[in-house]
Amino acid sequence: MQKLAGAILCALVLLTGCSTATRQTAKTPPPKDRPPDWENVAVETNKPAPEITVVVPPPPHIAPTAPKAAPQPEAKWQSLNRWATSHGLGALRRVTVGPVESFALVANTGVLTLNMGSLSAHWENLEIRFGFAPQLTNGQVFVHALDLHKNIEPLLRAFRPAAAPDRVIVIDPGHGGSNTGTRSKADNRLEKEFTLDWALRLARLLETNNWQVLLTRTNDVDVSLAERVDFAEQHRADLFVSLHFNSSGGGSPDAAGLETYCLTPTGMASSLVRGREDILAEILPNNTFDEQNLAYAVRLHAAVLKVNGHLDRAVRRARFLTVLRGQNRPAVLIEGGYLSNVREARKIADPAFRQKLAEATAEALK
Ligand SMILES: [Zn+2]
Repeated sequence: MQKLAGAILCALVLLTGCSTATRQTAKTPPPKDRPPDWENVAVETNKPAPEITVVVPPPPHIAPTAPKAAPQPEAKWQSLNRWATSHGLGALRRVTVGPVESFALVANTGVLTLNMGSLSAHWENLEIRFGFAPQLTNGQVFVHALDLHKNIEPLLRAFRPAAAPDRVIVIDPGHGGSNTGTRSKADNRLEKEFTLDWALRLARLLETNNWQVLLTRTNDVDVSLAERVDFAEQHRADLFVSLHFNSSGGGSPDAAGLETYCLTPTGMASSLVRGREDILAEILPNNTFDEQNLAYAVRLHAAVLKVNGHLDRAVRRARFLTVLRGQNRPAVLIEGGYLSNVREARKIADPAFRQKLAEATAEALK
């Protein structure tokens, strides 16, 4: 009981002390920047101290609302584990088999495998080139925000093109006329012949498959790249697919396999520049379709890999390709194999293989 009385006395002394201190400060002239109501309070404190009843109010209940912070700019590098958890996915699984540490993100739409320090990632069984190599920091996988939004999220969403009737597709057989493309190491025939043959076979298949099909050329003529884009624009195409065959140039004659290109998202470096300036900040008309570009590229790439012996050279990004840049619709360019590789060129020379190529391409666009 005595202890309680002592505590109350202490409290009174403390309060009086506070009050005295207030009075003392009130005697000094208030700073000029104080608001008027501060001065009024100071005058009040000069009155005799009122009787004090010590009532300790319960602490006010403050609802645990989050403070309204200004939106923070998104971090450039993001923890993929944290992202996966916040999207209801399980933790990343370590799947290292070689010298490169690899992690798999398992979603109900597929499995994404990332290789630390490498631009090469795998979605299901096909390769995708990232813009930035994922990094391992303190056991955490960090991915660049652009890869997260432009590659990982669209892949995991497993975008499917709308199944509307009579959609317009423009098929673009690469090269033509004096623009011959590369030459086959198997039979000396020219790329322009093979691309046209692939396009004509594909057109026949797509016409029976709800597509309204248009070709940028149906014979051996030179059509400029800008004219090909204009053609798709005039016909309000819903999709543009350019068909090519590859050459290693002065590189390895062993280079073989499938490469599929779509436009590089703004801010990301391209997988292929061919000596051209790669302006990362460029915002091109076709960037509106980043997600659909990737979706179509992945579908086409996956289908063609099934008939080419799974020689996978990845879904890649390029910014310089004129037939992609200006498109106001999803657009993809396929390099269907290497004419500079004798073994692959022999396959391409076979009409039965080209028919399979066309069937696979058509299947992807069903
Ligand atoms: Zn070509």
